[in-house]
Amino acid sequence: WNEETVAVITGGNKGIGFEVCKQFANLGFRVILTARDADRGQKALVALRNEGFQTVSFHQLDVSNKASVADFASWISQEHGHVDILVNNAGTNGVYVDELYVKENNMKLEDLLWSEQQSSKGFIVEYESAKACMETNYYGAKHVIRALLPLLRSSSRGARIINVGSLFGQLHNLRSSKLQQELADVDHLSDALIDQVLEMYLNDVKQKIWEDKGWPLKFPSYKMSKIALHAYTRLLATQLEKDVPKVFVNCVHPGFVRTDITSGMGNISAQEGAENIVRVALLPPNECPSGQLFLEKKVGQF
Ligand code: NDP
Repeated sequence: WNEETVAVITGGNKGIGFEVCKQFANLGFRVILTARDADRGQKALVALRNEGFQTVSFHQLDVSNKASVADFASWISQEHGHVDILVNNAGTNGVYVDELYVKENNMKLEDLLWSEQQSSKGFIVEYESAKACMETNYYGAKHVIRALLPLLRSSSRGARIINVGSLFGQLHNLRSSKLQQELADVDHLSDALIDQVLEMYLNDVKQKIWEDKGWPLKFPSYKMSKIALHAYTRLLATQLEKDVPKVFVNCVHPGFVRTDITSGMGNISAQEGAENIVRVALLPPNECPSGQLFLEKKVGQF
């Protein structure tokens, strides 16, 4: 890795994504900070430039918008001609808190959000927000990968894709053991199977019967989107296995990080969460697996 290294980060305007941009910039990489909102992205760029990081540039990218993804891919192809590192970090939690429930039960918001209790009580799961969560966390990451794959393949170093995953995307979060088994079976995984599972989930949400099925009870949309992202990572790794130079793809759970998505709760800072991602992105080829889920610093179970 050197000053020619091109690193793209989605959702780079704040939280973990912003810190990943900063850490790559600190290594002298050509960092492309992307954000769905141009103002927020520009402000983040100015903040980094003011700290002395001159190798960062900004481009708008809403991962849930196909035209925006295509526009970005065309721009970066002309501007840089290759991509060495892609961090699919953009994410949304897909949750609405039922304010009335919180008030009536005299609860603190954090008790509802982060208690161990696996219950759907206190959360509103609506079709539109569930769909938007899939569009960003799963399909968004997938579309960006697809659009940038020719550029990732043009990296002379063996490009790295990091999909920011989550403990919440581990398969044990599914209450259906049949689905767990299907998604664990990498030999029979396919894009169609993953899509089908998400369609079933969304359909159950639409019909308001999702709680009776085997879906996770707490943060169901977020968990389903990350379960899909993990499964896709394993599938893609098998598809990229024979590429020369190899394109490595892994998921990283950054830790429980104090950012907006956790309402500021967590036990590590965004900087520490970003370090977990950057470390995996920079593993030397002989130490870098592909198709794995890193739980902070260690490879873990899907
Ligand atoms: P933040 O809420 O701070 O950041 C989320 C980022 O994603 C923001 O920049 C947001 O942009 C961006 N984003 C949302 N939707 C889109 C979109 N359609 N297109 C482009 N960007 C979008 O949360 P974190 O920094 O914590 O989250 C980063 C990633 O880490 C997420 O994927 C999250 O799921 C994952 N993660 C976080 C954990 C934690 O404990 N914090 C734990 C495990 C995983 P905007 O400002 O415009 O909303």
